[in-house]
Amino acid sequence: MTSQLSAQLEELRGKVRAFIDREVIPLEDVIEEWGPEGEAALKSVQEKAKQEGIFALGLPKEIGGGGLPFMDYVYINEIIGRSEAAMYALGTHTAQDSTMLNMFGTPEQKEKWLYPMVRGEISPSVGLTEPEVAGSDPTLIETTAVLDGDEWVINGHKWFTTNANIAAFTTVFCVTEPDAARHKRASMIIVPTNTPGYEIVRVIPTMGGKGGNHCEVRYNNVRVPKENLLGSRGEGFVIAQKRLGPGRIYHCMRWLGQAQRAFDLMCERALNRYSHGSLLSDKQMIQKFIADSATEIQTARLLTIEAAKKIDEGHDARVDIAMIKVYGAGILHNVIDRAIQVHGALGVTEDTPLEKMYRRARYARIYDGPDEVHTVSISRRILKYYQQESYWNPADF
Ligand SMILES: Cc1cc2nc3c(=O)[nH]c(=O)nc-3n(C[C@H](O)[C@H](O)[C@H](O)COP(=O)(O)OP(=O)(O)OC[C@H]3O[C@@H](n4cnc5c(N)ncnc54)[C@H](O)[C@@H]3O)c2cc1C
Repeated sequence: MTSQLSAQLEELRGKVRAFIDREVIPLEDVIEEWGPEGEAALKSVQEKAKQEGIFALGLPKEIGGGGLPFMDYVYINEIIGRSEAAMYALGTHTAQDSTMLNMFGTPEQKEKWLYPMVRGEISPSVGLTEPEVAGSDPTLIETTAVLDGDEWVINGHKWFTTNANIAAFTTVFCVTEPDAARHKRASMIIVPTNTPGYEIVRVIPTMGGKGGNHCEVRYNNVRVPKENLLGSRGEGFVIAQKRLGPGRIYHCMRWLGQAQRAFDLMCERALNRYSHGSLLSDKQMIQKFIADSATEIQTARLLTIEAAKKIDEGHDARVDIAMIKVYGAGILHNVIDRAIQVHGALGVTEDTPLEKMYRRARYARIYDGPDEVHTVSISRRILKYYQQESYWNPADF
């Protein structure tokens, strides 16, 4: 088969895939339980990835990454997505936070948190969502930070701070300018997780996995130096947006990797399971599962690559990003669902990765903004063209 991608990129994708199949997939259950055994397994596999030169590939060379161009890394994420553990093993889980710190951090902040993070020595987390108010509308957040002398004093309650239980620091979204306009009230402040008053209340049991890594955190008079402010006061929304844009492309490519793994399993099973006089692959309904899934994967892939190209050219591509978030999350569910169906009872057992993938796929419609919020945003932005007596051109940025 001939690929549209360069031979060099295909070779790298092949190398990453072989590494994931050989080193990560056999350990993914252990790693994803987030216990001491998982941490040790993760460290050892990260070391191997570094030795093979495939760790933190998409981060700039000047901060210690592999320096792969953005579009190349988009295609690498499609491979990394085959296994959630691979995202950690290959240092991709820090991509959003590393990009954020690289863009907005001071030289001291970079020294303390960015470079060790890119080297895989420490993990980040981000605390935005709060149980008491709607996370889909971050202007409602209630956590406060007040400057007292040379220190920020933070009080509040967050939840779903992913990886807070393994992180060295959390970048916390808090109100520092209560009297400012809605989108200028919040700032980002870096809080080391060993700061007194930073209390992990619990790792929230969720449908996604046994160990879990989504934490409820209380900030009880947490004091950090005023130098821990990231960017400027009131710049929280701008920073959050910059953090999420390219990150959503990576997410969507990784979802495609998950969908592709489920698709592979579905095709292999269909070609081997015999029922009612023929293989499942000979049944028209199963053929439709395969054709529909392949079409959805390819549609989501093309949408995502189109959005990535616009981002690569320096545009925000807000409509495209929202589209791939909603469409990508939907097809991820559909493909895994069909793969489970083709496996019959085996599909709902833990003997294949499908049941875990199915549970996790459900998250995708909620995190990074619920589908409904993105859907409203697509329509609002498109209708604006017509309100201004113009029309929407999909080729527009
Ligand atoms: C697996 C996972 C990991 C996460 N990781 C993090 C993390 O690391 N850090 C962090 O800060 N947060 C994280 N979150 C939280 C996530 O960002 C929020 O759950 C999300 O923003 C939605 O906020 P909410 O849960 O408060 O739901 P709400 O805001 O209460 O919304 C509930 C529902 O209301 C509907 N809705 C909301 N607004 C609209 C609208 N405008 N139009 C129509 N319907 C609407 C949607 O159906 C939505 O699902 C994570 C969540 C999950 C599931």
